[in-house]
Amino acid sequence: MSFIRTNSIQLQTVHDPILEQAGVQLDVLRLDQIHPQVSGNKLFKLSKNIEAARQLGCDRLLSFGGAYSNHIHALAWTGNELGLGTIGIIRGEKPANLSPTLIDAQNWNMELCFVSRTEYRQRADKDYLDSLLKRFPNAYLIPEGGGNRLGVEGCQEIVSCLKEKTNTSYDLICCAVGTGSTLAGIASTLEQGERAMGVAVLKAGASIDQAVNSYLSVMTDHPSGGQNWSINHDYHFGGYAKFDTKLAKFIDHFIKTQAIPIEPVYTGKLFYAIYDLVRQGCYPKGSRLLAIHTGGLQGLRGTQERMERMLTGKVVQ
Ligand SMILES: *Cc1c(COP(=O)(O)O)cnc(C)c1O
Repeated sequence: MSFIRTNSIQLQTVHDPILEQAGVQLDVLRLDQIHPQVSGNKLFKLSKNIEAARQLGCDRLLSFGGAYSNHIHALAWTGNELGLGTIGIIRGEKPANLSPTLIDAQNWNMELCFVSRTEYRQRADKDYLDSLLKRFPNAYLIPEGGGNRLGVEGCQEIVSCLKEKTNTSYDLICCAVGTGSTLAGIASTLEQGERAMGVAVLKAGASIDQAVNSYLSVMTDHPSGGQNWSINHDYHFGGYAKFDTKLAKFIDHFIKTQAIPIEPVYTGKLFYAIYDLVRQGCYPKGSRLLAIHTGGLQGLRGTQERMERMLTGKVVQ
């Protein structure tokens, strides 16, 4: 994986009275430190897809996302870095002002293609994908969020990266869950006795569990997939990118006390969930937890204003 440099990634311990009272150790694997702008799990999800694209002789990559998508952002940067063309199918009509995420993508030479919400809904339909291939011949298609089998395999390297940093074995490895591919990659590479917990950041219910299950059941090195992981659905705060004053305050406090940047769409919900579960006494004294910081900080440019309004009390929840 030539474009992922794991040496800048740190393993950091969280010091907080809530954890100390419960006798729980919480470490964070800082995948947000991979790159100053393009951080987190998305590079892992892309790496094997890009290898496959190259093997197939495809010289451009096409994928899907919204105006603040971490995946689109990472795809544009990576393509540019590696000299591959990128095409972003973007949800919604072209706005008067592009989001900072899309401005970056454009600067990294991504071709932006805005489609109506109705058209965007077809993003996984075979006929629609065939029509895109006719329009963009020789493109390699990557699903929204980078969520496919090769994305999962790329995420297995997250565990290798962890093992590079420490010999500690953790009781529970936690990450935020969108498509579930990061969780599947992690769960498929854990050792005996280790468990993974995903915190769902969107309201998709059992469909994400099913997706993780189906990835794990076809990954030959882990035929018993499904035994060592779970998804907690109690902390999505109403849905994708939704949050409230309680979460905004938690994030603000966490950033100030831990000096670890987090955001409200993914990692804020992850750490909120971990703290809440620790407070409820879900983990016995002596438990060792690891949180995977999956990055996504560029997305803050889409939520900062809403966060600030909540923190200054200018929003009634
Ligand atoms: C995309 C993303 C996730 C979710 O990853 P999945 O593999 O889709 O579950 C988590 N955190 C951040 C910051 C992300 O950008």
